[in-house]
Amino acid sequence: MSHALPDWPEGMRALREAPVIALACHVNPDGDALGSLLALSLGLRKIGKTTHASWGCDPVTVPPSYRFLPCVESLVQARDMPESEVFVALDCGAGDRLGVLEDQARKCKTLINIDHHPGNDCFGTVNLVDTEASSTAELVMGLLLDLGVQLDRDIATCLYTGVVTDTGRFQYGNSNPGTLRLAAELLALDVPAPAIALEVFESNQFSYMKLLGRVLERATLVPEERFVYSWVSLEDLATTGIGMDETDKLIDTLRSTRDADVAAMFKEQADGNYRVSLRSKGPVSVGSIARSHGGGGHELAAGYTTTDVASGVEQILEALRS
Ligand code: 5GP
Ligand code: MN
Repeated sequence: MSHALPDWPEGMRALREAPVIALACHVNPDGDALGSLLALSLGLRKIGKTTHASWGCDPVTVPPSYRFLPCVESLVQARDMPESEVFVALDCGAGDRLGVLEDQARKCKTLINIDHHPGNDCFGTVNLVDTEASSTAELVMGLLLDLGVQLDRDIATCLYTGVVTDTGRFQYGNSNPGTLRLAAELLALDVPAPAIALEVFESNQFSYMKLLGRVLERATLVPEERFVYSWVSLEDLATTGIGMDETDKLIDTLRSTRDADVAAMFKEQADGNYRVSLRSKGPVSVGSIARSHGGGGHELAAGYTTTDVASGVEQILEALRS
């Protein structure tokens, strides 16, 4: 139970007392990051707080599949985040996940770190980290209820989006009876679940299909290590007209390879490095592989940055062979 977290009362007190609260989720946000951010912002506004919500990318652009979320128009650019005494970091396993907002967050009197990633380095002055929680959205729901916020359809839509995406539509091991009860409570608030599913999981642009084709064409299987990988280059994105923020789902198709337990997707960055997304079906902790290379994440879904595909593949194979 999150309420039993040692810093919970301190977090509640800080949120109750602050008139102005800055909120940020991790860079390149996913459904849980965005859903948690917007739900907390909406809920705090309902009890009279002024909130400013963003994340540390420049520019801040909402990925197309999440533009349906209530109140996305209230998000501000990172550079427009005003100074505040209280800063809340959401779904960030480490302080550097705040990107360009990290310095500002660390300078605040109170930095509340709300997260569920194993290995969270407790970078806040108040740390509400529960690795048993299905999602950061689950923690935010607990906080809002304790603050006396009446959940409404908009808040529930944001929270449900966080839970449904981080549990892979209730398929992963982080989904348990409690998670489904929580989802049921949200659905009872008239959350448009089929519309969310359509927007988030079934609304790929045709050009995304072409990108997926390229990526699958060059996928490589290392059968001895039950490892499959592929990569996406900036040239692929330019040719197909797909944005980097729409490439998150490529790994989901690759990971469904029956002959592999571990999947990696390498994404070329503007600085020439590659972001690596790692997924495991269970026997291997990709979280520890990512952490040993300066990244982080969960045991079965993690990420880090490397210089090129060949070295990245070697790093992963070495870990799988040891
Ligand atoms: P994804 O592959 O979807 O980008 O990330 C998978 C998981 O690993 C997510 O929970 C994400 O927050 C986490 N993650 C990805 N990259 C990093 C990183 O560089 N550092 C840390 N701490 N976590 C990461
Ligand atoms: Mn999450």
